Amino acid sequence: MDASTLAREQRSRTPAWKRRLARRLLDWFDRHARPLPWRATRDPYPIWVSEVMLQQTQVATVVAYYRRFIEALPTIAALAAADEQQVLKLWEGLGYYRRARQLHAAARHICERHGGEFPSEREAVHALPGVGRYTAGAVLSIAFDAREPILEANSMRVLSRLLAYRDDPRGAAGQRHLWQAAEDLLPRRRIGTFNQALMELGSEICTTREPKCHACPLAQFCPTRLRGLQSAIPAPSRKPAIQAVHQAALVLQRPDGRILLVRRGPGERWAGMWDFPRFELDDVTRSPVAYLQQQATALGRGPVTLGERILTLRHVVTRFRITLDCYAAHIPMPTKAAAPDTLKSPRRPRTKWFRPAEMEPLPMNVTGRKIARFIVQQG
Ligand code: SF4
Repeated sequence: MDASTLAREQRSRTPAWKRRLARRLLDWFDRHARPLPWRATRDPYPIWVSEVMLQQTQVATVVAYYRRFIEALPTIAALAAADEQQVLKLWEGLGYYRRARQLHAAARHICERHGGEFPSEREAVHALPGVGRYTAGAVLSIAFDAREPILEANSMRVLSRLLAYRDDPRGAAGQRHLWQAAEDLLPRRRIGTFNQALMELGSEICTTREPKCHACPLAQFCPTRLRGLQSAIPAPSRKPAIQAVHQAALVLQRPDGRILLVRRGPGERWAGMWDFPRFELDDVTRSPVAYLQQQATALGRGPVTLGERILTLRHVVTRFRITLDCYAAHIPMPTKAAAPDTLKSPRRPRTKWFRPAEMEPLPMNVTGRKIARFIVQQG
């Protein structure tokens, strides 16, 4: 659609048209909203936690994590006072751990600057670590009924279709256009409910593939449905090429049975979490086994027997298809020099030896946890 046609359509959206649309959407939501645990409260803290967890993560996955998190840390003050290891452990398996660290930092910020009360002013919310326009709009509108729009993947799809927006909605112009539309369509009351209803419609009815237009409360408002353009709108995103990555993890064991783990430092991936020593193999020009033998010897600071590959894990992270080969390695005799516990050292890597059973309470990434459980199961 060209700009002038779009502008004409925009002009024709009269206040009465918007009121009708909002009423239909709200009525539908009142009848069909899923009873999600964070919808039972207007307290901004649990709403904020749920919104952060829901970024990049499915509702079905989030529910159990949300319940566990709120039970363990029921207030902003409790979150602010918690140890980072506890916060990361509660987040273990959800991925995108930066979200947890920022939530933690923001709770401390709220306790220092706002007396532990989640702020209700726009500027103060935007100043919180990790809180972007979407999260701020969601918490302010849902908890305080502030006149704030939201735009995320589900509402972006619904709005693109309601406006028959043919260009890329993720581009700068598309984002400007859709944020403006999200604001224009806000009703006078029940703003937070309206925002949630838009997202719910995108999640349950106006899905990417085969939207259920026959069950959509906004069908009569939707030019995309009228023109049969559901598969063309929103314009599909260009998928980045998948890149294969080969890595290795070392399970290095001392004669007393303890295993070496590394705590990732600030700025590293999985910062604050524990992991097995991990190595990229793609750029290694010699035999991976010889390379790992050298790495294991350096970590053991003496003779190390590199054993067999004990496990191979395959997983996809964003655009990387990762093959992770895990090798056992043993220090055959006690040596004083083997990598010391360096947890107190400010230098990286920070290492520590653990008995297999001691690894369970540590925060670990998904593949690290799989290796740890494999070791315990194998005795
Ligand atoms: S009518 Fe279909 S395409 Fe239009 S908003 Fe509803 S579900 Fe989406």
